[in-house]
Amino acid sequence: MAAPSALVLHCDTCGDVPHRVLRGKVTGKDEIIFEGVVRCSKCGQVRSVVTREPRPIQVRVIVSFLESSERTSLEFSPEEEIGVGQEIELGDSRLRITSIEVKGRRMDGALAKEVSTLWAKRTDRVRVKFSVNKGNRTVPHEVLATPDEEFEVGEIVDLGRDRAVVHHIRTPHRTLHEGRVRADEIVRMYGRVVRERTSR
Ligand SMILES: [Zn+2]
Repeated sequence: MAAPSALVLHCDTCGDVPHRVLRGKVTGKDEIIFEGVVRCSKCGQVRSVVTREPRPIQVRVIVSFLESSERTSLEFSPEEEIGVGQEIELGDSRLRITSIEVKGRRMDGALAKEVSTLWAKRTDRVRVKFSVNKGNRTVPHEVLATPDEEFEVGEIVDLGRDRAVVHHIRTPHRTLHEGRVRADEIVRMYGRVVRERTSR
């Protein structure tokens, strides 16, 4: 195994800070043992160290997103605490732990090594409800967005077959008739279909 280029280590002067690895090697089976020479990124002190940490384990995770769910796994240090509500990265997406199963029981928190299955929800995408008036009827739509993406009254939203203009936006606290709101604050948007003008 290749030695890392930097490690967070304890420096007596600076505390827990990144240290540059000047040289070193990584060995070990159940544990990952690093032996090498490091330099503190703050005070510049050079010293040799030996660190040991348990080898990471794979924990089974069931990730739900919209109507589907997907089975995958995440790497944790065995002694790492996992809690419901915790946010974690998985590749390019972001997850929030919604449930933890330990020996058939649901727990609010556990050590990674005790967990049999984690349940998580993707939080890097939200679905925005959009009621669209199509003349004689109102049709519910959903628009996928990133949580911080903003929608604005007057904006035209592409719904695939149709396009619709946003009339007003409801949030948990108010109804906006102008201005913009983050996607994750929207309870529902209301609008109407825009007739396409085709020139021939
Ligand atoms: Zn230091």
